[in-house]
Amino acid sequence: LASLEAHPEPSVVNVSGVQIGGGHLGMIAGPCSVEDADRMHRIAKSVRDAGANLFRGGAYKPRTSPYAFQGLGEDGLKILREVGDEYGMPIVTEVTDPRNVELVAKYADMLQVGARNMQNFVLLTEVGRTSRPVLLKRGMSATIKDLLMSAEYVLSQGNPNVVLCERGIKGFDTITRNLFDVAAVPAVKALTHLPIIVDPSHATGRPDLIPPCALAGIAAGADGVHVEVHDCPEEAKSDGPQALLPDQYQELAKQMRQLAELF
Ligand code: PEP
Ligand code: MN
Repeated sequence: LASLEAHPEPSVVNVSGVQIGGGHLGMIAGPCSVEDADRMHRIAKSVRDAGANLFRGGAYKPRTSPYAFQGLGEDGLKILREVGDEYGMPIVTEVTDPRNVELVAKYADMLQVGARNMQNFVLLTEVGRTSRPVLLKRGMSATIKDLLMSAEYVLSQGNPNVVLCERGIKGFDTITRNLFDVAAVPAVKALTHLPIIVDPSHATGRPDLIPPCALAGIAAGADGVHVEVHDCPEEAKSDGPQALLPDQYQELAKQMRQLAELF
């Protein structure tokens, strides 16, 4: 179902009125974790004013350590919904557990399946049974074919609205958090009609590397860019060290729009 033979034209995924694919750029921005409501309002307003069209934040966080902040859960979903509505941005949030799919789908406009769950086939099947668009992130050790087979799990349940995301794969170099596989963008497009976006935040883990990699992603044909933004990275509950400040995002968003116009 994901193949170009099945569907030769590029798919456009509609996330509560915001289109991704077929020339429409998904500009997803927001903090790694949903935090207190005041902070979420500030960040949402700043990225909306910068030109983001989708707001992100995790209420259920897949943390390496069980002792690290795990997310605000349903309280976080409520904050995200309220903030998204106030600033007119559909919201994207991760679901980590098949038992929570129904709950998360009640609040979210788009369900994110994270890298660590790309091959959680029970979770993929459950999100495939909803009518919510799905942001499917490439697993850190997954091949492009693995990613497409995971998309197939969602599509085969009757949910055609899948957006793929290249977020970096495991490399050997510790200078960057992951290895940004920019060639995955055109390589995926040669195989599937599904839109693909890039996430230079998790791919690099470094604010100084996010703008060049975001722009490289667009130059390679990405249908959108996913960036973590925080107004006070030192206080962030997760992924503070890779967050862009609102001003930095504003500058990057302007450059991304200019570059996208060339295509
Ligand atoms: C995230 O988007 O905050 C996240 C956990 O991403 P990934 O699954 O790509 O690590
Ligand atoms: Mn994160």
